[in-house]
Amino acid sequence: MNAPGTPRPVREDPALAALAAAVLQGDAAPRRRAVAKSITLLESTRPDHRERADQLLTTLLPHTGRSFRLGISGVPGVGKSTFIEALGLDLIARGHQVAVLAIDPSSTVSGGSILGDKTRMERLSMHPQAYIRPSPSSGTLGGVAEKTREAMLVCEAAGYDVVIVETVGVGQSETAVSSMTDMYTLLQLPNAGDDLQAIKKGVMELADLVVINKADLDPHAATRAQAQIASSLRLFGLHGHPDPASHDQPLWHPQVMQLSALKGSGLDEFWQRVMRYREIQTANGQWAARRRQQALAWMWDAIHAGLRQRFSHHPAVRSALPALTGAVESGQVAASTASRQLLGLFTGESGGRPPLSV
Ligand code: GDP
Repeated sequence: MNAPGTPRPVREDPALAALAAAVLQGDAAPRRRAVAKSITLLESTRPDHRERADQLLTTLLPHTGRSFRLGISGVPGVGKSTFIEALGLDLIARGHQVAVLAIDPSSTVSGGSILGDKTRMERLSMHPQAYIRPSPSSGTLGGVAEKTREAMLVCEAAGYDVVIVETVGVGQSETAVSSMTDMYTLLQLPNAGDDLQAIKKGVMELADLVVINKADLDPHAATRAQAQIASSLRLFGLHGHPDPASHDQPLWHPQVMQLSALKGSGLDEFWQRVMRYREIQTANGQWAARRRQQALAWMWDAIHAGLRQRFSHHPAVRSALPALTGAVESGQVAASTASRQLLGLFTGESGGRPPLSV
C-alpha cells in the first residue's frame, strides 16, 4: 500500500511505466532518449506533467544515490568544458558512465545561457556512455538548482555512475552546486594567486579541491598560485568535520593541485585525489552525513519555494496586498503588523476578519 501522499504507482500509466523501464534498462541509445525525455518532463511547469514527473521520480528513486556526484565551478574561460570533456572521456575509458549537468544562473534571468551552447564538449556528448544536459532554459521556483537535482536522480537511475554538475562562478550557483554534490571542485587560472582577493572567500571555503588549470601556460605562476591558495585553504581548516581535535578518524583537508586540461596532464592525479577523498569521507561518516543533510535541505528549499508561490497566489492575500504595501511604504502600518495580517489571511487564522483598515 502507498504511504499517505505518495504519488500513484507508474504501472497505472503505461506510457510512464515504459519511460521508467527505458531509463532503467541501461541500453545506450534508448536510455539516452529516455533520460532526455524524463528530464524534459521534470522541467515542465504544467501541473499534470508535474504529477507524472513525481510518479516517475518515486519509481526511479530506489535506483538512485549510487553515483559519485562531482561539482565543478569556475569563471567563464577557466577551462571547465575542456576539463570536463577530457576527464569524462578518461573516465569512460576506465569503464565509467558519465553524466554532465549544468546550472547556469544566467538562464534564470535572461533566458540566455553562458553554459548552454551545444558545441561544448562535442566529443563527450557524442559518446554513447555519456549524457550531457545543458541547463534548463528558464528559472524555476526552487532556484537554479531544483531541476538539476531532479535530473541528477534520473541520471543515477539510468546507471551513470559519475555525475558532474557544472556551474559558472558568478554567484549563488556555487553554493547550489556544493549543496548537491559529494565533492566540490573549484577551477582557477594560474594568475589567481596574484590576486587572491578576486577569489570570493565564501566560494573558497566551499572547495574540497582547488584545481589550477592551464598550468602549461605559465608553470611558475601556477606554482606560485598553488602555494598561495594552499596557505589560504589551511586557514579555512578542515572540511565538514564537527570536531577537528578528534583525530581518531581520517580527515580530508582541502587541497590544491595544478593541471592542464588542454594537454590532458594531471587528470590521473586529479582522479586519484577524488578517490582518496571518497575513501576518507566514507570511512569517517562524512559522506553519508552530507547526503542526509542535502536531502533535508532540498526538501526545505522546495517547501519554502512552494509556500512563497502559494502565498503570492492566494486570493485574499492578493486583494489585501496593494493597500497594505502602500500603508507600509507610507509609514501608517508597521511592516511586522502588515506581515502578520497577510500571513493571517493566508492561513485563514484571521478568522475571515478584514485586514486592518488603513
Ligand atoms: P569554460 O568557459 O570554463 O568552459 O572554458 P573552456 O573549456 O571553453 O576553455 C576556454 C579556452 O581555454 C579554450 O580556448 C580552451 O582551449 C582553453 N583552455 C582550456 N584548458 C586549457 C589548458 O589547460 N591550457 C591551455 N593553454 N588552454 C586551455
